[in-house]
Amino acid sequence: MNDVVSLKARRDRALGAGAALFYETPLHIVRGEGAYLFDADGRRYVDMYNNVPCVGHANPKVAEAMARQQATLNTHSRYLHEGVIDFAERLAALHGPQIESVVFSCSGTEANEVALRMARFATGRRGIVCTNATYHGNSELVGALTHVGSRQPETAEIHAFPFPESYRPIEDGLSEQALCDAYLERLADAIARFEASRVGFAALIVCSIFANEGLPRVPAGFMARAAEMARSAGGLVIADEVQAGYCRTGRWWGYEVTGFTPDIVVTGKPMGNGLPLAATAASRALVETFRTKTRYFNTFASSPLQAAVGMAVLDEIEDKALGENAAAVGAPLKAALTQRKGVWEAIGDVRGEGLFIGVEMVKDDPARAPDAPLAVAMANRLKNKGFLTSNAGAFANVVKIRPPLVFSHGDGEAFLAAFDQAVDELQAERRHG
Ligand code: PMP
Repeated sequence: MNDVVSLKARRDRALGAGAALFYETPLHIVRGEGAYLFDADGRRYVDMYNNVPCVGHANPKVAEAMARQQATLNTHSRYLHEGVIDFAERLAALHGPQIESVVFSCSGTEANEVALRMARFATGRRGIVCTNATYHGNSELVGALTHVGSRQPETAEIHAFPFPESYRPIEDGLSEQALCDAYLERLADAIARFEASRVGFAALIVCSIFANEGLPRVPAGFMARAAEMARSAGGLVIADEVQAGYCRTGRWWGYEVTGFTPDIVVTGKPMGNGLPLAATAASRALVETFRTKTRYFNTFASSPLQAAVGMAVLDEIEDKALGENAAAVGAPLKAALTQRKGVWEAIGDVRGEGLFIGVEMVKDDPARAPDAPLAVAMANRLKNKGFLTSNAGAFANVVKIRPPLVFSHGDGEAFLAAFDQAVDELQAERRHG
């Protein structure tokens, strides 16, 4: 405990106060292995939050590939290197035939920035449409999309539409089809406003499963029709797969879950299992237009080291059938959590796919208002019981469950026991408080 307090004080000085930390009492983690993290006292926590170490913390195959490549060769991208070419070919082949070539970078932010610029060069127009509760990264351009139309105003070049959902729909009492139409109208409006101004419409960008929005239940058919609408208005469709991709949902790509075909796919977080590695993949024509216009160079990207590590991650996902694991372990966990909805009114909804599940915490009133403090209380309580989650979503009231893909059935069962205890304790406190 003293250790945590003094480290926190040193950290505030070294990094500047304001660098966020999780949990009421921050964790001091010193080691990871598979789906587990260990603190300085040797206490084990089940990691139910981190998607970056997708093939497991301290994965030996990835560590070995990283060390071997670093001890052999690591350079920038301006030399021929077969490993880099192999990796780009393998990555592109994980998508449909429209995806042929790859621009590598070092973060989701950079890869999204490349995607947005690619779409602007290709269309000759500048208007970007995103949802009103999104996060795609933190550069000046990409950060301008964060919660646009809700927490920050739309700009001449960035318009938002309300993210599609059925739990708190934009209009009550509609059939699923009519609700889908209602959201599509709002998207059409965001596009039309670009057409009315001289800005023009370049691209629709979405996280394929609307992760930061809170994993909403999307009205059936919405994304297929949204993509069609964007294309018929002359724009491109960008799938941000930074969270949704790499078997997170039990399928390779989130766009398979929501049912659309992107023109540009952005990947990041899990690609390097912790080594900074991100990519923007598209048709050869789109990538070449971008390369011609920008002469894009990124010192640490497209390196032999990125390629060796990226290949080892793909090998591990395939060899260990981690996509199948995500589907097989995630489905019963989600079903069990869904049963808890009936146990406590504060559990408003349980959503998600594969090993990405959100538990929506709500106030005990007819409006089912979001209860962010309760989601925070759940995350703190679960952490004290040895399970690491956090809160997320448009209203920060969704307990976010997104463990490494090596998470097992046994881990899921242990989590459910802790979840039930946390619910009992919080209910009892409310009764007495
Ligand atoms: N896209 C999505 C959907 C994200 O959730 C994030 C990060 N949380 C990013 C992009 C940005 O990635 P990075 O932090 O690697 O820049």
